Amino acid sequence: MILFKNVSKVYKNGTKALENINIKIEDGEFVFITGRSGAGKSTMMHLLTCEDTPTEGRLEVNGVEPKKLSRRQIPKYRRGIGVVFQDFRLIPTMTVYDNVAFAMRVVGRGGRIIRERVTSALELVGLSHKARAYPEHLSGGEQQRVALARAIINSPKLIIADEPTGNVDPQMSIDIMKLLNTINKEGISVVVVTHEQALVDAFRKREIRIENGKILYDTGRPAKPAAKIAKEESVSND
Ligand code: ADP
Repeated sequence: MILFKNVSKVYKNGTKALENINIKIEDGEFVFITGRSGAGKSTMMHLLTCEDTPTEGRLEVNGVEPKKLSRRQIPKYRRGIGVVFQDFRLIPTMTVYDNVAFAMRVVGRGGRIIRERVTSALELVGLSHKARAYPEHLSGGEQQRVALARAIINSPKLIIADEPTGNVDPQMSIDIMKLLNTINKEGISVVVVTHEQALVDAFRKREIRIENGKILYDTGRPAKPAAKIAKEESVSND
């Protein structure tokens, strides 16, 4: 669960980037965070990844208050979160396979488990046939799918994607979102920061809109389709 309780962030130059933010995101949710440039989205991301800390209020991520972590604890905390960036951040000198495997090697995993997991992660993102390719020979969409495979490889509870479709063509953007949806269905919470309203409209998910450091609206979890509710009710009435 992610909990922002009266969270504010004021930068050293006095800029109020976030003001009194209250958000609760349950385990397994899929949430879009939207807003114009300068709204405060990156600041929220940096608080979640513990690259920065709130000036006021309380932030909890999976029961942990990031700002209370010691320097030594931060890498472990970050490994519990899979992060996907707009600019992919793949290692250019490593193959697709090694880019994904590397994320397991650095946490001390080895041998067969790496082979099994990397193989199935590349299958999930549809890139088994590119395992030996280098990032420079991939399209933007393919690079982002490698980044997604890398983000999930250590079984995080949460994926944070910061403008994941910013460098990807429109059709591939839909595919990236579908993949994030598939990952979410496996039980991983997904938080996607985007300013692409068309994508948000295409996927019926909770949207939290930020403007000038404040929540403009929060749609909450979308209601279940009527047919599904009816079916669940009939089951529980049995
Ligand atoms: P977004 O990601 O929605 O574009 P940001 O979180 O980057 O918005 O920025 C929110 C506000 O905080 C903006 O006014 C921005 O100029 C300011 N800001 C961001 N980072 C810093 C910083 N390190 N120091 C001072 N001001 C900052």
